[in-house]
Amino acid sequence: MSIAFIDLQAQRRRLGPKLEESILSVVRSGQWILGPAVKEFEEKLAAFCGAKYALGCANGTDAVALPLMAWGVGEGDAVFCPSFTFAATAEIVPWVSATPVFVDVTAGTYGIDPQHLEKSIEAVKREGKLKPKAVIAVDLFGQPADYPALSAIAKKHGLKVIADSAQGFGCTLHGKHPIEWADAVTTSFFPAKPLGCYGDGGAVLTNNSEDLALMRSYAVHGGGGDKYDNVRIGMNSRLDSIQAAILLQKLAVFADEIVMRNQAADRYAKGLAGHVLQAGTVIAGGCSTWAQYTIEHEDRDGLAAALKEAGVPTAIYYPRPLHQQTAYKAFPQGPGGLPNTDAAANVVISLPMHADLDAPTQDVIIGAVAAFRPAARRTA
Ligand SMILES: *Cc1c(COP(=O)(O)O)cnc(C)c1O
Repeated sequence: MSIAFIDLQAQRRRLGPKLEESILSVVRSGQWILGPAVKEFEEKLAAFCGAKYALGCANGTDAVALPLMAWGVGEGDAVFCPSFTFAATAEIVPWVSATPVFVDVTAGTYGIDPQHLEKSIEAVKREGKLKPKAVIAVDLFGQPADYPALSAIAKKHGLKVIADSAQGFGCTLHGKHPIEWADAVTTSFFPAKPLGCYGDGGAVLTNNSEDLALMRSYAVHGGGGDKYDNVRIGMNSRLDSIQAAILLQKLAVFADEIVMRNQAADRYAKGLAGHVLQAGTVIAGGCSTWAQYTIEHEDRDGLAAALKEAGVPTAIYYPRPLHQQTAYKAFPQGPGGLPNTDAAANVVISLPMHADLDAPTQDVIIGAVAAFRPAARRTA
């Protein structure tokens, strides 16, 4: 038996022939660009998370860029974001000529740390070189950031909030989706994300109709009234009709899949207790979509090697946070640096997680983790 890290083929089999039929229906319709499937999906996606509007786009990276473009964030502006995230979160900030300022995360749950965020905003204000404009919070590994705290700080300092929910679309905090607090929520439909398609795709959610109109314009060449009226410098970022048709099928079962992922997470938590520094941990009041099941282990690399030997695939998100990367190390950090980020990068390891993960397979994985003895303990 080979164990998959994320078993998308099992999901495809579970969804049955309807999914492939929906692809063919778009092929046959000839409405390949911005066809009816895109509109229907945008409406259903917005409804799923209680947002007024959704705008499909080409990928989750463009999705983070679009609100910054709509808000006119640019040269001389500071955008606060974590370093413990996928590169796309910070990458789009210099794209719009603004400067990312790296903020530390909260130990154990990895959301942007509200206290360090406030210190970072104050430090940038004191220095007076950059103008604080926006915060990008990340729903890392599927769980919501501490939105009540960080949105209060953002409001106090006049900053907009983006929830980069590429890994966490569908997550909630105290029963509410991030759109409750964020000015824009973005997501990615990259296949391995909790709500993924069969290629690239992304979306932005908003409750603001003016932002929506601006983002729609930026996403299609800065269009004005008609197709050949260009009123701003935009880009070409559309959600593909075939991907929208696939996503409609997947969205229909997504709520059930979140339940299935949480059942698997609970099973891991019980089985791993006492064998790891920390099993997967969610912020109080949060419900995660478990894009990753990330644990902490003192001998993370030893555990990865032992699990590989036992046929259990693992992954490390993220071994080198962005502020340690060549392309990003020159950008500023909040006061005192990023100790929780540096510490997390040394101990995190992610185990297989997907909605179709069955109990016997999980027992093999849990057994392999439990059987591992770190070098330090072996000699003791
Ligand atoms: C995957 C991801 C993105 C980017 O999504 P793409 O669709 O691959 O462009 C952005 N932010 C985070 C946190 C992600 O995990």
